[in-house]
Amino acid sequence: MSTTFSDYRDTRLFIDGEWRDGVEGLTIDVLDPATGEVIGKVAHATRADLDAALAAVDRGFKVWSATSAFERSKLMRKAADILRERAGQIAVMMTREQGKPLDQAKDEVLAGADVIDWFAEEARRTYGQIIPARVAGVTQMAIKLPVGPVAAFTPWNFPINQVVRKLSAAVAAGCSIIVKAPEETPASPAELIRAFVDAGIPAGVVNLVYGVPAEISEYLIPHPVIRKISFTGSTPVGKQLAALAAQHMKLSTMELGGHAPAIIFGDADVDKAVKVMAMSKFRNAGQVCVSPTRFLVQDSVYDKVVGSFTEAARAVKVGNGMEAGIEMGPLANERRIPALEALVNDAVEHGAELKTGGRRIGNKGNFFEPTVLSNVPKEARIMNEEPFGPVAVFSSFTTLDEAIDEANRLPFGLASYAFTGSADTANQIGLRIEAGMTTINHNGLALPEVPFGGIKDSGYGTEGGSEAINAYLVTKFVTQTAP
Ligand code: NAD
Repeated sequence: MSTTFSDYRDTRLFIDGEWRDGVEGLTIDVLDPATGEVIGKVAHATRADLDAALAAVDRGFKVWSATSAFERSKLMRKAADILRERAGQIAVMMTREQGKPLDQAKDEVLAGADVIDWFAEEARRTYGQIIPARVAGVTQMAIKLPVGPVAAFTPWNFPINQVVRKLSAAVAAGCSIIVKAPEETPASPAELIRAFVDAGIPAGVVNLVYGVPAEISEYLIPHPVIRKISFTGSTPVGKQLAALAAQHMKLSTMELGGHAPAIIFGDADVDKAVKVMAMSKFRNAGQVCVSPTRFLVQDSVYDKVVGSFTEAARAVKVGNGMEAGIEMGPLANERRIPALEALVNDAVEHGAELKTGGRRIGNKGNFFEPTVLSNVPKEARIMNEEPFGPVAVFSSFTTLDEAIDEANRLPFGLASYAFTGSADTANQIGLRIEAGMTTINHNGLALPEVPFGGIKDSGYGTEGGSEAINAYLVTKFVTQTAP
């Protein structure tokens, strides 16, 4: 497919049922990470726009919380269908602004539609409880009500997926929402909002802004209209936002960084482990919070695994995601290139062996080589900091306890992976790894119907599965008797 300018459109704010420019007319350039070219602009919200969005979301909440769950569910299903119909066009926008290969962008849009459908179903199941009373004639009820207007902050690695989980859960629960979507990748999340708009969502229920992230979060989080915060991004920023939310007694969900261990035991199907893990590692150029990063391999198969993984890394087809056959696109942001180079150099200085990669590719676009580091000591920064890029870091272990100790050594606890032929080892891994998610002998994470979230410094709350909608509901107790 040829890449043309007309594939991409400028992005405006969406406030109170209208697409608009910012009151001050400011814009931010959007770059194609594969070429460095400016491909469009996104409107930049300032205080007056945020005030308009807050007034709208407040009105929107009154309308939407009074709309029946059945009607909310129907509208959501319509939005999901619209998104599916437009998946091809939206994928082009996503690839142009984010860099991922076009087929992966399309999969993300389609997965977004599945998330909407899942929460549309959940909307109709926000059951409460009738509690037996101590006195005859008294009815005691615990009812679930929407928490109120939500402010959601989402990053650029999955421009639609990161928004759709928060948006769908909020809308299903009867909340209104202001989404602060990523400035780097604004057009594809705007198309998600457009699907809801075209499905008929009332004005004010869904609002979309962009601007300076810190200015927006510092204004929206303490604002009395906002009752719930949801953030996906790095742990340091998450801690700041969670602290601000706590100061103002706002509920929050935090989906933060990870540093996933991937443990390969000597009794595993090693070929399968390498195939599944290489695909997971280099998907979205490693810019994935659940990306496998610390590969812990049992001594008996260490050399074989590192050798096959290095071959798999060398075979990854890197290039402009708009071109057919490309498996890995550029990094979304130029700033990640020096960050990754510094992590790789530091590992080598600490005695790690660079098996392949480690450098920028070419001088146009943010391409980085699929990289494998072997025998990386714990002291290297990359064994402690999330690389958020296409770098796999290998070290060996001898016993199960050693592997589990290393897996649990870091403050992060998001995803974890293991490959083993032993049912006993699988059970122990499932119970003892400190992580929100563990996937054993396959990669089965991130479906709408299963929990998705972290523990420890990776945050709190789940954005998938049957508990996810609870983050947007409050429990109210009502007791009554005849007058
Ligand atoms: P960053 O910490 O500057 O930004 C991460 C995200 O948070 C961005 O979308 C940004 O717009 C937003 N953000 C930053 N400060 C904010 C604030 N004060 N208020 C509201 N939003 C704010 O990092 P980056 O260079 O964009 O990305 C690199 C790091 O971010 C990675 O190392 C990774 O840990 C993390 N990250 C995590 C995810 C995830 O899926 N959990 C996604 C993207 C980035």
